[in-house]
Amino acid sequence: MKNLKLAAKSAKEGKTVVEVGDVRIGDEFVVIAGPCSVESEQQVLESAIAVKEAGAKVLRGGAFKPRTSPYAFQGLGLKGLKFLKKAGNEVGLPIITEVIDPRDVSWVCEYADIVQIGARNMQNFSLLQEVGKAGKPVLLKRGMYSTIAEWLNCAEYILAEGNPNVILCERGIRTFETYTRNTLDLSAIPSVKEVSHLPIVVDPSHATGKLSLVEPMSLAAVAAGADGLIIEVHANPCEALCDGAQSLDGPGIKQLIEKVNKLNAAYKAL
Ligand code: PEP
Ligand code: MN
Repeated sequence: MKNLKLAAKSAKEGKTVVEVGDVRIGDEFVVIAGPCSVESEQQVLESAIAVKEAGAKVLRGGAFKPRTSPYAFQGLGLKGLKFLKKAGNEVGLPIITEVIDPRDVSWVCEYADIVQIGARNMQNFSLLQEVGKAGKPVLLKRGMYSTIAEWLNCAEYILAEGNPNVILCERGIRTFETYTRNTLDLSAIPSVKEVSHLPIVVDPSHATGKLSLVEPMSLAAVAAGADGLIIEVHANPCEALCDGAQSLDGPGIKQLIEKVNKLNAAYKAL
């Protein structure tokens, strides 16, 4: 990939490790988990307790939701961010949340430990420049219609503003297949590792859209060399305002992390 400068493997020695408190993404395998959306103070706290107990290292939760329909639940905004922060503090987990508007970046960064750029905003260049300037760790999702080269160039936009803390996230791409919500491009993991020093995590929840496929695809991501996972979890998935069909419950995330840990240990021993 000729036009990559800072994101290219040749740009630095070794891998990038993004430090968030005492979590080291790129160095240890990290599971990020939590609800698709923050719905209420109690809902996000229940999820936070479940994911912490299961062994997740970062709490996720959307306060600004980029929804396909303008009439769907759009998130609680600042109120949601405050509930997420409070839940994170209560259980002792750093938080990640999506930012969708360049004008919100600076104040969202006052709450978030990692800011997420969603698939629909991957090529929102002014948003990328803002999060680059803000300096907070950024999780950059792959756009659903984007090539690996386009995605890495978006990481380059953030790095070029002087922010080295970029985590890539493969979340599935659109293909002709309709059985799954998207098609998880597992080959993106070793491909990215061939050309870049940046850590890459996988989102099997949005990639598949199906609860039954989240665990197998998580294990496949481990086998393909991912640095971590981001998983949607809800204490009562049937009642979720967004993405309940792909959300694990408390016992589900606990079982998933147990299996992921066993597989990681087996791989290290190979
Ligand atoms: C999300 O993680 O909440 C989300 C909206 O995901 P994506 O941008 O991958 O669709
Ligand atoms: Mn979601």
